[in-house]
Amino acid sequence: MAMMGTALATPASAVDPHPTPGPRVTVEYFPEPGGEGRRTEVPVTTERAAGRSTARTADPTAGTTDGEVNELSVTGPSADRLDVVIIGDGYTAGQQDAFHTAAAAKWADITRVEPYASYQGLMNVWTVDAVSAESGVSGDPSADVTKDTALGSYFWCSNTERLVCADIDKVASYAAKAPEADLVVVLSHSAKYGGAGYSGLEAEGYPFDGVSTLSSDNEQSSMIAVHEIAHSVGLLADEYAYDGYGTWPSGEPADINSSTYTTRQMAAKRAKWYRWLGETDPTGGTVGTYEGSSYYPYGIYRPTSNSLMRALNVSEFNLPGREAMIAGFYREANALSSEVATGSAVLRTTRIKVSQAELTGLAAPELRWYVDGVQVKRAKGLTGVVPAALGVAADGRTHTVTVRSEDRSASIRDPQVRAETTETLTWTVKASGHKPRTHR
Ligand SMILES: [Zn+2]
Repeated sequence: MAMMGTALATPASAVDPHPTPGPRVTVEYFPEPGGEGRRTEVPVTTERAAGRSTARTADPTAGTTDGEVNELSVTGPSADRLDVVIIGDGYTAGQQDAFHTAAAAKWADITRVEPYASYQGLMNVWTVDAVSAESGVSGDPSADVTKDTALGSYFWCSNTERLVCADIDKVASYAAKAPEADLVVVLSHSAKYGGAGYSGLEAEGYPFDGVSTLSSDNEQSSMIAVHEIAHSVGLLADEYAYDGYGTWPSGEPADINSSTYTTRQMAAKRAKWYRWLGETDPTGGTVGTYEGSSYYPYGIYRPTSNSLMRALNVSEFNLPGREAMIAGFYREANALSSEVATGSAVLRTTRIKVSQAELTGLAAPELRWYVDGVQVKRAKGLTGVVPAALGVAADGRTHTVTVRSEDRSASIRDPQVRAETTETLTWTVKASGHKPRTHR
């Protein structure tokens, strides 16, 4: 399913001393492993960085797997799934196996973190081969190193060592080869710590809003993607603050995990994460209101002392963040699908098969069946039914069969989020009592 745009508030940003013409977007990066993020603006395309490919006459990718799409983890139809596309950069024709191995390892790292772990069944993951002329990426190991690569990704973007930028036009052309790209991850072939999260790309005309870059062979880079995907999917704000930003200058933000309310105000207003106040949090503390969030140290609060939306030295979302992530997964995916069309009537003897996404751990999916709106309790959990066996009578009248999938997860407390997890399909069962005439 296509992602909705996410607008991140952009306070003052660092200025590139060597501006490149063309559109610029906000990126977030992490100067050191386990630390807090920083933000700046960079050009969308990177003609000035490396890229000798354009000067070549012969196609260096001829006879290679360039552009080949493979399934890393496909759990259902793209229309019903959050589709993640992973593209490698700095891998030569002979190194594509290494790319596939690195992509699988990075995705395994990301999905070790909850709620990604429990909700993998709502996601499809594809890899797209991008064949580079040279192995490795620019800026590794030092700023003066230049590599000719398919996506032009490079360290030292905007004079910042750990900031890995890429040519988003080239990224988009490879991402378009996958069935659907809701989220794009670029794996830059390197063992050096680095990465970035692009946001606001839909406003520049791209079919996806966010791109995460990360180095392929650095253990600690995985958390960058875990954090960046949370901006796109969970619409979560950063929970860190910059020294010198002073007091939050505006009113209550829209972000679900940032608030100007103190604990007492939040409870009284029944706003934001009030349902979680006082709970013991997976990050180790208690949910409350902790001053400093959304880049400002004063006058704005975050739900917990630390969380992976604040610093990458913890591998847990806090409870409000976890719930927002689950809401995001369901916003982009459907847990329930069926190949039996709901648009036309079925017979009493038609076998109705449905598939429910395989969810584990924190998730608690339920499947219930109804005839004319009344639940058939003994059919609970069945993924295939025949209306007659459910009790649809042959009485010459039209009846309905409904299946309802709902996630009863304890990680969800907001009724609106619960409603987002609930999906129903309804079939009309053709009136019968005598054998219907068959044509053809
Ligand atoms: Zn962030």
